[in-house]
Amino acid sequence: MKYLIVLAVIAVVYALWRGQRQVPPGRRAGPRAGGAAPQDMVRCAHCGLHLPKDDALQQGGRSYCCAAHRDLGPS
Ligand SMILES: [Zn+2]
Repeated sequence: MKYLIVLAVIAVVYALWRGQRQVPPGRRAGPRAGGAAPQDMVRCAHCGLHLPKDDALQQGGRSYCCAAHRDLGPS
């Protein structure tokens, strides 16, 4: 009876160990899908701050970090 309990404990531990090891395929290696893609960086024409192109304000072919610098124009 004692061995039966030990066997049951081993079986549970083994099942848990197997469950943790099961990593979805493609999770370990390969390019990160949906991860942070490289972004184009632009420079604020007024203060020179570098920021992502998506966050920059465009005016007259120049990029600005904020509306205040856009209004002030290139330095
Ligand atoms: Zn700026």
